[in-house]
Amino acid sequence: MSNLSETHILVIEDEQDLRAGLQHNLELEGYVVSTAADGREGLRKAREGKANLILLDLMLPHMSGTEVLQHLRETGNETPVIILSAKGQDRDKVQGLELGADDYLTKPFGLTELTARIRAVLRRTQSGAKAGDRQALSGVMVFPGLTVDWGRFTVQSEGEETQLSRYEAEILRMLVEHRGQVVSRQDLLRKVWGYVHLPTTRTVDNHIARLRKKIEHDVENPTHVKTVHGLGYCFESELLEHRQ
Ligand code: CA
Repeated sequence: MSNLSETHILVIEDEQDLRAGLQHNLELEGYVVSTAADGREGLRKAREGKANLILLDLMLPHMSGTEVLQHLRETGNETPVIILSAKGQDRDKVQGLELGADDYLTKPFGLTELTARIRAVLRRTQSGAKAGDRQALSGVMVFPGLTVDWGRFTVQSEGEETQLSRYEAEILRMLVEHRGQVVSRQDLLRKVWGYVHLPTTRTVDNHIARLRKKIEHDVENPTHVKTVHGLGYCFESELLEHRQ
């Protein structure tokens, strides 16, 4: 509760009544709230980087919520996002999660549900995920053809350094912590996303595919993150060096 008054929420929603209602109620809860009425304005405000969390409607004028999210994540903006979707937008919802949204709510939703989700996402993304409630990996790890910097969430492969998204880093962290063992998609969903009501484990597969592009020499024949058919994924590389 200590820094609740400093938590800034950006509401990107084109329905005026809903936008005003969200702002009013979230301000009563003690949040600092700013709003945007269309996707383009929303993206601009999100890029200012003041928001601790974004509530993002999907159907928006000028630029869809999915596009806003994609632009943010592609440019390395990892602000937590909760998608607000209408009934029947399941496909968009799934796509949103694959693009790196942190949760979703289906309209209409109650204030209690909304604030519970906001708190859960903030807890997970601010403290839990970064600090790690397990044996947090730190320092720099060197594997054959791959160097991972856990402090900066970067990987170096073939001399090229790339930034990992929060989810890519958490997936890699969990696989490396359990290297030599198979980690199931369900375990990854539970540990990395923190909840189990995701509609599909395809979310995991898509993040793995993106991770592989950054760490594998040949994504068709991965040497680090192997697929164990029907079971999950396994990090198989030998640890050559661990610098703290
Ligand atoms: Ca809308």
